[in-house]
Amino acid sequence: MDIRIVICSHCGKEYEWQASGSWALETPKKYNSDKYCPDCQKAIMDTLEKIPILFKNKSVNVEDAVKFDSSLSQVTPQYIFELIKREEEKAKERQKSSMFPIMKRVFAGLVNCETGESSIAGEVTDSIIKNYRSINRQFFYSYWPSKPEEMKISISVRIETETGNIVDYAR
Ligand SMILES: [Zn+2]
Repeated sequence: MDIRIVICSHCGKEYEWQASGSWALETPKKYNSDKYCPDCQKAIMDTLEKIPILFKNKSVNVEDAVKFDSSLSQVTPQYIFELIKREEEKAKERQKSSMFPIMKRVFAGLVNCETGESSIAGEVTDSIIKNYRSINRQFFYSYWPSKPEEMKISISVRIETETGNIVDYAR
């Protein structure tokens, strides 16, 4: 547990902020902030709650995002495998000049009870230029090693909450 005395950046009073560990302060955990005291944090949250969220990031199936950007129809299992290969090569390159082992984000896969096969899941990014803007697209994939061609691919996009329409890539 890590509790620190910090100063509220709005009202200037000293308060306790818990940085880690199981909750030990008397104030509600949801008002725990390293920037604002519980009173100020509550005021901020109560106010923001009244303002509707217009846009948010969401992960959707790539097929469902093609109508937003037709270039996503090129994002096939083949394409994802290329990206994975490229990232692995880059990681190896970095490894040469580093004393640390390669870090790889591993996702908990599913297990098929009948065959005992484990699914493989992960995250890769590519970079495209759209409307004069460079965009890093983040893909999530999962597949059964015996059926790589049936890979499920999703992508983070920005949606308008009222309509559910995709308006951009996640930012
Ligand atoms: Zn305050």
